[in-house]
Amino acid sequence: MKELKIAQRLDQLQTENAFEVLAEVKRLTAEGRHIISFAIGEPDFDTPENIKAAGIRAIAENQTHYSPAGGIPQLKQAIASYIKDTRQISVGPPNIVVTPGAKPIILYSLLACVNPGDEVIYPNPGFPIYQSAIGFIGAKGIPLPIREDLGFSFDPDEFKARVTPRTRMVILNSPHNPTGGVLRTEALEAVVEAANKYDLWVLSDEIYSRIIYEEPFKSIASIPGMVERTIIIDGFSKTYAMTGWRIGYGVMPAQLAHWVTRIQINNESCVSTFTQFAATEALIGSQDGADAIVREFARRRKMMVEELNRVPGIKCPVPAGTFYVYPNVTGACRRLGLKDSKELQRRLLYGGNVAVLAGSAFGSRNDEQEYIRLSYATSEENIREGIHRIKKVLQG
Ligand code: PMP
Repeated sequence: MKELKIAQRLDQLQTENAFEVLAEVKRLTAEGRHIISFAIGEPDFDTPENIKAAGIRAIAENQTHYSPAGGIPQLKQAIASYIKDTRQISVGPPNIVVTPGAKPIILYSLLACVNPGDEVIYPNPGFPIYQSAIGFIGAKGIPLPIREDLGFSFDPDEFKARVTPRTRMVILNSPHNPTGGVLRTEALEAVVEAANKYDLWVLSDEIYSRIIYEEPFKSIASIPGMVERTIIIDGFSKTYAMTGWRIGYGVMPAQLAHWVTRIQINNESCVSTFTQFAATEALIGSQDGADAIVREFARRRKMMVEELNRVPGIKCPVPAGTFYVYPNVTGACRRLGLKDSKELQRRLLYGGNVAVLAGSAFGSRNDEQEYIRLSYATSEENIREGIHRIKKVLQG
């Protein structure tokens, strides 16, 4: 067969392993196997009723036409008020760009702020789209180790050692996928210092900002002087269980919002209009649904960590946020004679009917340690049964 002529830039484009594992789980389930999946990156709850009703009402009222690129005014206003309240910063509708999911803000920010050949520092492990998008635009990704012994924050000195005159942007994600860690104050301060010194952009992915358990959420944008150089990513997917509606947003300096909106005009025009009405209700309506989701996650987190720490070969720190745990499974891999977390992922799926994600799905290994990510966006019953199955595999 004739080989397709594919553009060179696709050499750099990677994927999200989670979607592949989900497809494999579906295939095995169709074969009649009963799989317990901890691989999912979305809440297992349904969108709260008041939000669904607002979306349905908007369709009935024919909000089914194009909207202004960047978002409908009432949603931009609601987002600006929400961000002002939660980050104590002064922003208004001109600072907001509403996109189909939070994800597009990653690529759009890179396209708008970073030239080919520039360096971008990003968390390792981290959400795989950062590294993929950095490579895709022809920039150079500089991985920053996220360390278990620092509560899954990073070492300020390791950060400083990665900043060069070629650095253009730093990507932060707190609370952090996949570890559940929250960045410490000294880590944020190191970024602020470098950002001021080298005139850097900070892309702060705060999609899990509401799913945080003990400490209050702190955005780098709240630190004086940072609002002018920070792009906040936030959205509705996780907080309001709205992954399939496809809506999220970026908050950024107005001049940059103008350019990001222009990229959107060239690409998707706007987010579906009725979805924007539903999202407006999510922000200005009752928060009971969102609060109940976080309360339930808090309960499951405790159970998940306790159960996992009873399994020989697994050490699971208590994560500060998100709905993921990121246990150290170096002992488990050794016990079973497995090379790495990817082999453990396979053994658990094919030998134990449990789906997890290997740490290697989120970047390269730090310090020869092996990890897996488990999402507790699944029922208590599944958590107990799933961990029971993991234990059985590990006990051989
Ligand atoms: N950032 C992070 C860190 C995420 O985990 C996700 C979703 N898995 C996203 C962005 C994308 O969110 P959305 O579905 O709203 O595009």
